[in-house]
Amino acid sequence: TETLMALCRPGFEADLAAELNFHAAEQMVAGYPRTTGNSGYVLWHSQQGSMAPLLHSGLIFARSLSLGIGEFMDIGDDRISALWPLLEAAAPFGEVFLDHPDTNDGREMQRFLKGFRKALEPRLKKAGLLRRKAANRVHLFFSDSHNGWVTISPLEVPLAEGGVRRLKLPSEAPSRSALKVEEALLRFFGTTEALTAKTAVDLGAAPGGWSWQLARRGIKVQAVDHGKLNARLLDEYPVQHIYGDAFTWRPRTSVDLVVCDVVDKPARTLQQMEKWLDQGWSKAALFNLKLPMKRRFQEVWQLLEKLATTMERHPERGEVIIKAAHLYYDREEITVWASYQRDY
Ligand code: SAM
Repeated sequence: TETLMALCRPGFEADLAAELNFHAAEQMVAGYPRTTGNSGYVLWHSQQGSMAPLLHSGLIFARSLSLGIGEFMDIGDDRISALWPLLEAAAPFGEVFLDHPDTNDGREMQRFLKGFRKALEPRLKKAGLLRRKAANRVHLFFSDSHNGWVTISPLEVPLAEGGVRRLKLPSEAPSRSALKVEEALLRFFGTTEALTAKTAVDLGAAPGGWSWQLARRGIKVQAVDHGKLNARLLDEYPVQHIYGDAFTWRPRTSVDLVVCDVVDKPARTLQQMEKWLDQGWSKAALFNLKLPMKRRFQEVWQLLEKLATTMERHPERGEVIIKAAHLYYDREEITVWASYQRDY
């Protein structure tokens, strides 16, 4: 048997479990999820077959995925001794994550975990368990201060401790939404330097957080919105404001990237992005999809399948790449990247 540990935003456990069940069925893995509402995580127990391939592909609703080494229960205050056999079984590892659920109780453990890391890491180094050039990272997931799991994940998969990557919002950013673009790049590509686009269109751009993220990377942006854009953005960056409708405006020449953060029905946003990519108005797209009220995973998955089918009508453009994630800075929405063969 094998256990997969998946962290999520509290309240989305059922969606994550539905997503895990879907992939298990596709890969003919037999098993079941174990979830508690609002716990911020889901455990998936396989009885036959392995869910390990998911560690590399990622899941929409999982902020972090790792593979169970073993569970610890009611350990005493000498935690290092109690955890040592599990740590030895997980070794060697190149990084130590001290994970906790993203709940109030979970966050209250942060101070304890900081102290614990100070005590733990030197011991791990000295014993040769924590060393450079290891393939994995180890996670000590504390569901509370005496219970949890030791798990591992491949170091080559970019993850944030606890699945939460807090980002700083520079004061010149026109809006908080700007953080979504940065988090999406980190989550999908492991770096914020991944964009190769020179030109972009931002549909529903005001006040301009997304446009700013693109423009500060040297991308020329056409920002479409009936509303006002941040004045400093227009002054200091290569951004052109177009007073137009996000759903009917068309570019005169095609661009490298279209982004869209209009809050509308997910099917409508998707159809719009599909059209931009299909018509070749843009090579790549980055957009938000508002989550439906019910069957959130299934509905979203159907939309993404539809997008993939449309994009595959142009095999000459290369392999279709679609990545989707419920980001830390997303609430009732997910963020999607779609392009051909790393055309970003
Ligand atoms: N991404 C922006 C940022 O980072 O600052 C925030 C976008 S805000 C969530 C959605 C924007 O879409 C609003 O400014 C709204 O005016 C615009 N919008 C909604 N429907 C639109 C439409 N049909 N045409 C143009 N803009 C639209």
